[in-house]
Amino acid sequence: MRATRLVSPLLLAALVAVLGTAPVAGGASAPARSVAITIDDLPAPPAGVVSNQPAALAALTRRLLAALAAHGVPAVGFVNEGKLHLDGEEAGGAEARTAVLRLWTEAGLELGNHTYSHRSLNRTPLEEFQADVVRGEPVTRKLLAEAGRPLRYFRHPFLQVGLELPKRREFERFLAERGYTVAPVTVDNDDYVFAAVYADALRRGDGERAGRVAAGYLDYMERVFAFVEEVSRRLTGREIAQILLIHANELNADHFGELAKRIEARGYRFATLEETLRDPAYALPDDYVGNWGISWLHHWELTAQRPRSPSPDPPAWIQQAYDALPR
Ligand SMILES: [Zn+2]
Repeated sequence: MRATRLVSPLLLAALVAVLGTAPVAGGASAPARSVAITIDDLPAPPAGVVSNQPAALAALTRRLLAALAAHGVPAVGFVNEGKLHLDGEEAGGAEARTAVLRLWTEAGLELGNHTYSHRSLNRTPLEEFQADVVRGEPVTRKLLAEAGRPLRYFRHPFLQVGLELPKRREFERFLAERGYTVAPVTVDNDDYVFAAVYADALRRGDGERAGRVAAGYLDYMERVFAFVEEVSRRLTGREIAQILLIHANELNADHFGELAKRIEARGYRFATLEETLRDPAYALPDDYVGNWGISWLHHWELTAQRPRSPSPDPPAWIQQAYDALPR
């Protein structure tokens, strides 16, 4: 006997939950995409800014926070407390840089720990690395406490999770014992490459070149999103709740608003990291260790013995300009 309805409401609800799509009028499906925005290397990595002076960092941060607020983005910012202390800077420097971080919590946003000095877990002995995590806590914890929040997220520098699985697992146990949840990344990208070329152009007063870099960045990020959507579907049969990593820099301070519009135009809403991590994808088996700091989509591909899908690259002229910058 034929069913009178092909899909019961209950089953439809389950399908929506699994596939991440919601039915719309006319029976077609519109994507109910979601992405959590995470922003690393706070207060800011020097290569991505026009000036590393506290007043300039505060101005950059205010522009970035305004763009986040305009799009209702509940971002999490990941701090390197080592960036608060500059060699040879007068005593007030660290205080002024801490005030830049406080702009984030005053804007209602959450901060996480990205270690004190942004070293590689792959190349640092575990005990030393764990000490760098602890050293990266006090200012961030205090700012969060002022805002009535706990410190609860950790982001691996360079997304490097270790070269051997026992080390990776031991570090994860350490994090859990200190109350941390690892913040994975699925929408990995090379925004820092564009950002360094962009900041260099602005430092040299070349606004025209900066504009071309920004346009290239936005187009590149569209390709990155199309890529992760495709890998998600291939790997899990659906589009998972994504996590974007970008950096606190001049490029995003000036152009995050435009990037947010492009992301929204793809059918995304901006979700909290907490909500995003409830997607069952984040419980997929993940035994990845290795040299590459890569997307968790790649972790899951490699753990499932599949080849790593090649990510989009920045345009050659951007990459060449980046490679030619003095380090
Ligand atoms: Zn970082």
